[in-house]
Amino acid sequence: MLPQVIIIGRPNVGKSTLFNRLVGKRLALVDDQPGVTRDRRFGDAELLGLKFQIVDTAGWEDDEAETLPGRMRKQTEAALATADVALFVVDARAGVTPLDEEIANWLRSSPVPVILLANKAEGRAGESGLLEAYSLGLGDPVAISAEHGQGMGDLFEGLLPYLEPLQPPEEEESDEDWEFDPQAVLKLAIVGRPNAGKSTLINKLLQEDRLLTGPEAGITRDSIAIDWIWTDPKTGDSRDVRLIDTAGMRKKAQVTEKLERMAVADARHAVDFAEVVVLLLDATRGLEHQDLKIASMALEEGRALMIAINKWDVAEDASKLFNGIRAALDEGLAQVRGVPLLAVSARTGKGLDDMIAAAFSIREAWSRRVPTSALNRWFDDALAANPPPAPGGKRIKLRYITQAKTRPPGFVLFGTRLDMLPESYKRYLINSIRRELGFEAVPIRINLRSPK
Ligand code: GDP
Ligand code: GDP
Repeated sequence: MLPQVIIIGRPNVGKSTLFNRLVGKRLALVDDQPGVTRDRRFGDAELLGLKFQIVDTAGWEDDEAETLPGRMRKQTEAALATADVALFVVDARAGVTPLDEEIANWLRSSPVPVILLANKAEGRAGESGLLEAYSLGLGDPVAISAEHGQGMGDLFEGLLPYLEPLQPPEEEESDEDWEFDPQAVLKLAIVGRPNAGKSTLINKLLQEDRLLTGPEAGITRDSIAIDWIWTDPKTGDSRDVRLIDTAGMRKKAQVTEKLERMAVADARHAVDFAEVVVLLLDATRGLEHQDLKIASMALEEGRALMIAINKWDVAEDASKLFNGIRAALDEGLAQVRGVPLLAVSARTGKGLDDMIAAAFSIREAWSRRVPTSALNRWFDDALAANPPPAPGGKRIKLRYITQAKTRPPGFVLFGTRLDMLPESYKRYLINSIRRELGFEAVPIRINLRSPK
């Protein structure tokens, strides 16, 4: 039986969004649980290797027979009866409301531990609401953005003391479900600003291969998926690719919204469904602010990112352009050094096969699990080469590291006084993992865990 975590909060604070994020792809397993209750949703959640059952109580709001607070109170009490931990969600943008205060009062008198989450905390708009949340008397609020996946590491830290402790790494790996099938269909999104050449590129890819395997299936209102088979000209192997396209739809819809602004929103939809994201640049325009925004978003969402400079057939001063973009990327995308950069032409087809081949290989790194023995060897070497600092004369002890997840790779580092570990040291470890363990260009996360 998994431990149970229940999400509580007034309407519209983002409970369902958080539920969906924690359940992720396992959403299909969400069951109505007949005979239990209709106003709760249950799902199996996973957060950086931490597994639990998550309960969303958003359905309470629909009952009009009773006043909202009265109805919510009854439901809260019923739901809390089986919960191990409660996540109390408030809206950092709206600030604390009287209903929030009322719910906080009930929760304070409950024996179930409560973690206070200030949601919608991305950007500056959430700052004052976050401060207000301290007044609820439920401890320090954890700032998160359920929509953008921010603060999930802090939520993980908050949950750990109450849930099953993670197992220390085992000597032998017995991990069938860890195995990644490199033959599985590659989910590839082509994103970029208007006129970068997305439609031309997709048409070129499909026309060259003439192997469309299925009809265009609508996956969301804003994107379509195109299944086709790519043949690797070097090996002759055939591989399944699902292209996620947003550009075509946008044009068909003839929308009037500002296209530039829509580009980021379009990219976000596509990125949700992709394993690898190709950001297409326009060689005649270079790297612009909007491009960096899309690139950062893809990395923040944990996707493997590649950048292709399109219209290379008309590029002027090509090597200077390439090097300039390389330098601007390394400066502008501090999260990941060495994002693969390619030159392509959607018009002539130059570089397109290399681009797809690179996408397969970066997906492999993104999906890889490092054997425990190799990880430990790296860990010892990295610490010996650059020991952790000793703030205030007391050394931070790093005990061991384990890879909690893949796609993207996530690691959990165990030790003492980890709250004192400087960002710069964490960055050193991340860069070293990337370089030494073959995760170049892949976004990597490390969560810190000290025993309580
Ligand atoms: P619930 O009624 O508590 O389940 O709330 P929902 O999950 O339905 O979210 C309510 C609204 O808040 C929706 O429009 C969400 O898109 C939005 N929302 C949820 N999480 C966030 C977030 O982290 N940031 C922002 N800006 N909006 C969010
Ligand atoms: P989208 O808005 O990103 O889908 O861009 P389109 O595919 O509609 O392309 C925008 C313009 O750039 C069109 O006029 C294309 O013909 C042109 N274009 C696209 N790819 C190339 C290329 O590789 N070389 C050149 N010279 N022009 C291109």
